[in-house]
Amino acid sequence: LFLSDLFSFLNLQPAVTDGPVSMPGGLSLTQGICFSDVTFAYPDSTHPALRHLNLELAAGQVTALVGPNGAGKSTVAKLLCRLYDPQEGRVLWDGMDLRDLRLADLRQAITMLFQEPVRYHATVAENIALGENAGLAVPPERIAEAAQAAGAEDLIARLPAGYETLLGKWFAGGVDLSVGEWQRLALARAFLRCAPLLILDEPTSAMDSWAETDWMGRFRDLVAGRTALVITHRFTTAMRADVIYVLEGQRIVESGTHAQLLALHGRYAASWYAQVQATPAEVPA
Ligand code: ADP
Repeated sequence: LFLSDLFSFLNLQPAVTDGPVSMPGGLSLTQGICFSDVTFAYPDSTHPALRHLNLELAAGQVTALVGPNGAGKSTVAKLLCRLYDPQEGRVLWDGMDLRDLRLADLRQAITMLFQEPVRYHATVAENIALGENAGLAVPPERIAEAAQAAGAEDLIARLPAGYETLLGKWFAGGVDLSVGEWQRLALARAFLRCAPLLILDEPTSAMDSWAETDWMGRFRDLVAGRTALVITHRFTTAMRADVIYVLEGQRIVESGTHAQLLALHGRYAASWYAQVQATPAEVPA
């Protein structure tokens, strides 16, 4: 019944293709990333998800993107990974248009942590090692180091066969984990993979505030010397960023540090006070 769907799928031509510039030694990020007047609508959508967006991610800094549901935050991440190309404007990586780069070079230079962690129905060690191109050839010491950095060693020690425990329920004998535990393994995978750009889409949404505090400490270690974009609803996460952008109605409406945005008494400040449920006088800037 569905064979024609399969053949339509196999006949699809990729809309996003390789650019001419190859980076044999790997793509570094020394200046930063710039969204320059970017307008983008999803295929078959009549409304743009982003409209004339201008955004800068300075190299070596943590940038947070906050805003209501549907504002276009995840779309920014998708354009950065080149899952789509914008209809207008450009996304520049150290001044180079993403479309000029080879896709493999670009994606090798990015680590993406999703809100819903990717669950590989494989062993714990494989779940961590798959962050690297070398994949299963990663030495066990490096896997253990990454697990430790992510705070996953206690969880792994409790599992019946430690690093060799089969995870997920697809195969007989597999052990399932909670969302927070899968998130820890995803974080370990990110530690192993030393990409210059990290993108985190709602990384702490499934955590309580204790776990979030521990996680943020580890996150600071993870991003040392790298560039990070954190997409979040949580102002307690956003406030730790070097620069915060507020996205609303498909465009940036405010930007600055936490203190600058509070002093502005605009959208960010209003949402911050609403979320922490305090009056301005009670909250240190
Ligand atoms: P946010 O991350 O801020 O919640 P998104 O970037 O996910 O917002 O979405 C921005 C807009 O694009 C929304 O109107 C959403 O419905 C739309 N959108 C998101 N993904 C798709 C898609 N794959 N196809 C069509 N429209 C989409």
